[in-house]
Amino acid sequence: MSEASGAPRLEPLREDWERALCVVAHPDDLEFGAAAAVARWTGQGKRVVYCMVTSGEAGIDGMDPGECRAVREAEQVESARLVGVHQVEFLGLPDGILEYGVPLRRAIAAVVRRHRPEIVVTGNFRETWGGRNLNQADHVAAGRAVVDAVRDAGNRWVFPEQLGDGVEPWGGVREVWAFGSPEGQHAVDTTDTFDAGVASLEAHRAYIEGLGWEHFDAREFLEGFARQAGQGLGVAFAAAFEVFPMGWGE
Ligand SMILES: [Zn+2]
Repeated sequence: MSEASGAPRLEPLREDWERALCVVAHPDDLEFGAAAAVARWTGQGKRVVYCMVTSGEAGIDGMDPGECRAVREAEQVESARLVGVHQVEFLGLPDGILEYGVPLRRAIAAVVRRHRPEIVVTGNFRETWGGRNLNQADHVAAGRAVVDAVRDAGNRWVFPEQLGDGVEPWGGVREVWAFGSPEGQHAVDTTDTFDAGVASLEAHRAYIEGLGWEHFDAREFLEGFARQAGQGLGVAFAAAFEVFPMGWGE
């Protein structure tokens, strides 16, 4: 379905919720597609928590993982602060060789049960970014595990060792939202928080430098995607997401 302009029409994301948990494979993932949206939500008084499955320690060619881990965790914490997120968790699983499976689901389900979010945000976990640009293995593993772990979290017979001491099953996640997906049909207006999103990406200084992309400009990079999603929503800038309904009977 297309508008006359040629931009696919996008539906607005729901905003009738209070708690979101963002779970992604690497520090910097959220900043490439969701940070401006997060800034909007925290500005509305919603509570957003970040969870990094790895610390991105294998992400800088010229830096030893031992050193890199601390640098990237610090950059992520600062990056989160700039969009109003004051809690960032690191699960410490291995960067670059993340495996989809029960251990990953278990680790993520525990986080979902502790934070009891209504919305869970993750990154694109489809095979490509659209066209022939293949996605990265950790992103695919993490996103698939997020969707499954959201279900696991609600089942008291799955990972029962996590329950007790005030931790209960949590089946209250209504939707999982994946940013950067080629199948995104929803979006949120980020016109007023776009600058915060840019600052949030720029906070990954060592990482961006380490990529060695000549003349990389965070603003310019993010603007292209934001403008395109904005056209679909009828606003200047927006962030697009693929929505996976998780609730029962909605
Ligand atoms: Zn990544």
